[in-house]
Amino acid sequence: MPRKRERSLQAPRRGRPGRAELAQLFAARGFADVRWIDPADIVTAEWVRMKCVYGCGEYGRNACCPPNAPPVDACARFLREYKRCAVFHFAKTVEKPEDRRAWGRKLNLELVRLEQELFKSGFEKAFLLPFDSCGICLECPGSRADCKEPKLARPSPEALAIDVFATVRRIGCPIEVLSDYDQEMNRYAFLLVD
Ligand code: SF4
Repeated sequence: MPRKRERSLQAPRRGRPGRAELAQLFAARGFADVRWIDPADIVTAEWVRMKCVYGCGEYGRNACCPPNAPPVDACARFLREYKRCAVFHFAKTVEKPEDRRAWGRKLNLELVRLEQELFKSGFEKAFLLPFDSCGICLECPGSRADCKEPKLARPSPEALAIDVFATVRRIGCPIEVLSDYDQEMNRYAFLLVD
């Protein structure tokens, strides 16, 4: 019996695949909880960068996080170069704080693969912002030049100064500040499409 071919996106002869077709592809890869946002509605803010600089242990230690990231105004200009952005939602509760990293690493790697699949389908601008700081390697050298997996490494939305709270609330998604690890997280990855 012939094997069923896995669904993939073919480069369209006219125009680009619409949201519905892209959403079908995302669902086939296991990412069904997706909404769309106009990148012009993605909120960037200086306070997000301040939180990176003062208060986050990844600052200067992760090759995808500030200071290994463009200035806030350049991040905003970068986002304005896109017309469509998929927002993937992940709800999760972990038993132990350390479980969070392994869970995020696996999912974010799958999302990078999805971005690469879109790129190969003709979406030359496709760019993923994973829902956590890059955790591909167990030890990160902390500088872009020394990144061990440069083809897979991507900045988180926060590294690009995106106010994730304000942004996802604009499209009706749940998000709250949590006070403990046993509370359910609502995490969001952004896939800038074209
Ligand atoms: S791929 Fe590895 S070295 Fe590069 S930013 Fe991510 S964790 Fe660091």
